Amino acid sequence: MAKSKYEYVKNFEAEDKCLPNCWIVVNLDGKCFQRFAEMHGFEKPNDKRSLELMSRSAAAVMEEIRDIVLAYGQSDEYSFVFRKDTGLFNRRTEKILTIVNSLFSAAFVFYWKSFLGFTNMLYPPAFEGHVYLFPSELNLKDYLSWRQIELHANNLYSSAFWAMVLKGKLSPKEAEEKLRPIAFVSHRHELILKDYGIIYGNEPILFRKGTTLVRKLVPLPGDGKFHQVVFPLCIDLTNDEFWRENSEILGLKPLTVFKPGNNNLGF
Ligand code: ATP
Ligand code: ATP
Ligand code: MG
Ligand code: MG
Repeated sequence: MAKSKYEYVKNFEAEDKCLPNCWIVVNLDGKCFQRFAEMHGFEKPNDKRSLELMSRSAAAVMEEIRDIVLAYGQSDEYSFVFRKDTGLFNRRTEKILTIVNSLFSAAFVFYWKSFLGFTNMLYPPAFEGHVYLFPSELNLKDYLSWRQIELHANNLYSSAFWAMVLKGKLSPKEAEEKLRPIAFVSHRHELILKDYGIIYGNEPILFRKGTTLVRKLVPLPGDGKFHQVVFPLCIDLTNDEFWRENSEILGLKPLTVFKPGNNNLGF
């Protein structure tokens, strides 16, 4: 095809490549989801249906983009970890970020009815995204620990807050004022136990640990051939046991066969 005189504008395209030898992590977070959750009647402090919808949408992203080795989600956010040596889109940041975000956002709408049933979606939700580049395994592990610890602190706060509002009949303002001076997370544990009899450790593990999606091999029933499946786990990412058992994520061994019963979701 003959080049038109206009084609020179292609040289003006912004190009931003992810550094080689780094783990690429895409983080997505719902825009103004406090409002979105209220408008759609999400249960407080945790709505299981919406968390499962988030995880189904993230699994759809992993099914499409095979270079994603792990995803971690909590609240209105999901993080996607790419194979360290991925060559997807020549490691172009904007392409990777936009494809992950648009796939996830589209899946969130696509699967809405399966999880939220008859709740009508009142307006299109939006997610913002950004990219991290981690040069070391430790940085990557610390990133995931950071997201999980953040969930822990936020969830303990909102468990205490909603216990005060829903069980204690305090106004939201009174609950906030009572909680504000309690800086230590462990003191919030004590407060909800003492005042409301809530043992935080007995709350559902999905709410306390979030969801980690991993890729495993599973034999097909017919010919026994293996295929890849994305599995959800509710697991502690801050200790080394997870990384020992799932070292294929770091590229240290090939994908492993999934053994039934070796997760804590009961399948
Ligand atoms: P921003 O646009 O800055 O991210 P935001 O309102 O989304 O604003 P976040 O810090 O991302 O703020 O917090 C997400 C909020 O969404 C939570 O505070 C909570 O109110 C609500 N939310 C998200 N997921 C759930 C859920 N599964 N169940 C109940 N509420 C949820
Ligand atoms: P890539 O992922 O590389 O963009 P692509 O298949 O989307 O692959 P494009 O160069 O973007 O390739 O071309 C879009 C193609 O989608 C067209 O070739 C055409 O076949 C199809 N297409 C797009 N919009 C329409 C439309 N409105 N009606 C019919 N076909 C369409
Ligand atoms: Mg948000
Ligand atoms: Mg958030």
